[in-house]
Amino acid sequence: MTQVVPDTHTNPNGDVADTPVRVVPHIINGHPLVEGERRGEVFNPATGAVTASLPFATTATVNAAVSAAQAVAPAWRATGLARRAAVMFKLHEIITSRKDELAALITEEQGKVLSDAAGEIARGLENVEFCAGLVHHMKGEFLEQAAAGLDVHQVRQPLGVVACITPFNFPAMVPLWMITTAIAAGNTVVLKPSEKDPSAVNWIVEAFHEAGLPEGVLNLIHGDREAVEALIDDPRVQAVSFVGSTPIAQSIYTRATALGKRVQALGGAKNHMVVMPDADLDAAADAAVSAGYGAAGERCMAISVVVPVGDIADDLIAKISSRITDLTIGEGTDPDSEMGPVITSAAKERIEGLIAGSSDSGAEVVVDGRSVDLPDEGFFIGPTLIDHVKPGMPVYDEEIFGPVLSVARVGHFDEAVELINSCQYANGTAIFTRDGRTAREFEFAIEVGMVGINVPIPVPIGAFSFGGWKKSLFGDTHMYGPESFNFYTRRKVVTSRWPQPDESRINLGFPTN
Ligand code: NAD
Repeated sequence: MTQVVPDTHTNPNGDVADTPVRVVPHIINGHPLVEGERRGEVFNPATGAVTASLPFATTATVNAAVSAAQAVAPAWRATGLARRAAVMFKLHEIITSRKDELAALITEEQGKVLSDAAGEIARGLENVEFCAGLVHHMKGEFLEQAAAGLDVHQVRQPLGVVACITPFNFPAMVPLWMITTAIAAGNTVVLKPSEKDPSAVNWIVEAFHEAGLPEGVLNLIHGDREAVEALIDDPRVQAVSFVGSTPIAQSIYTRATALGKRVQALGGAKNHMVVMPDADLDAAADAAVSAGYGAAGERCMAISVVVPVGDIADDLIAKISSRITDLTIGEGTDPDSEMGPVITSAAKERIEGLIAGSSDSGAEVVVDGRSVDLPDEGFFIGPTLIDHVKPGMPVYDEEIFGPVLSVARVGHFDEAVELINSCQYANGTAIFTRDGRTAREFEFAIEVGMVGINVPIPVPIGAFSFGGWKKSLFGDTHMYGPESFNFYTRRKVVTSRWPQPDESRINLGFPTN
């Protein structure tokens, strides 16, 4: 459905070119729409070239998308659950059989290597599987004979139109976390994905329609702040799901809750991995490298800070450093590449600035990703390792979101816990140890939403829900899985009695059992 029209765009060298590029349309009521004066450019981060043009939704476009979602909300809510489940099964089949197409789109615009794109799709599919069991997740409760002749039951009902706003780093998985559950629960959706890598979402919306989803149930608009704010402010939008950086998550939470809306806004992260002196250091080094540099560190569950406890730091750093030099960095489409570029030239500059500033603030750059051999074009940074990092340094305090691992040395287990519990972010954390008691103490004491024990990226499986604490999540419910069905439904409690005519009498007292 994507269209190719001549469109002026800028080359990475700043020249204006007139070669035709793909236009990635909005999809409203099942139909592609290219509308709006403002356009964004989509880059291939591995080459720096513009690959597509994106219309930015105006308030009028947002209004049309919400109207489409609102118009079909009663019919979708009334659609039998078995029919909704059938859409989920079919969607699963479509994505599974054509996952290579979707992975190619992710790699072209996000930059991650193809195997990683396939992993993202697999984790998104977990939620489609969970939602295929929606008849179970939508079940209510029934209590017979709560008082004599009186029954109470609770049902779950959808909210109506919901807004979903997603980040660049998981252009397929995060939308699948949100929209699938919202739709399975009987809501209609307006989705606003990242403007940096929009094509995967267009593919997914088309797959939903191919799977039998009626037009208007899922609407897609592209754009930036203007579109997001118009969407949140629309009084017909009942709830907002957001994933992105902390400042935007917080502002969206504040804006939407002030309007009385239900909001879950997942923010940034700074995930620590504690390595105890008794840990298998080779396994810990493998885990740190995989979780620190996979997807060029652009994962909200990436390990950002390694925390060696006691006197193992030098050994661990040596093991991590030797592994880094063996990594193959290159275009994500190359099967030999293990790590691709970061998303934009601005991200590259910001990350390089943090690396440069770290030595000024007293840290030591052990492996400098700015000085390794990298492809000439595109937004590449080599894997970087920085030692002696501490709170108060920008490289520690800020979310880097790039291929940079910091090492924060501590003397004792308690110091590691204290360091992590003092951090404003609390998405994920991990401990590497062979001692069950230490692991249990860590699990008990740590103030973080998702914890791994000898597992560096503890993204819960689809039957659990995903979410951090503190500035990593604004709102009360976690995403996907059971909590997501709570977020996208309202509970209604019905108390019923079927008295005989002669049992009726006047009673002005407050009803009691
Ligand atoms: P971002 O906050 O820049 O953008 C997220 C979404 O918000 C996009 O759709 C974007 O268009 C929109 N947006 C941007 N600026 C806005 C504004 N001023 N007002 C309204 N909307 C705005 O995030 P990103 O760079 O796309 O994604 C990376 C961030 O997302 C990182 O901080 C990462 O940790 C976080 N993230 C968190 C999780 C999680 O589960 N906690 C998962 C994935 C990514």
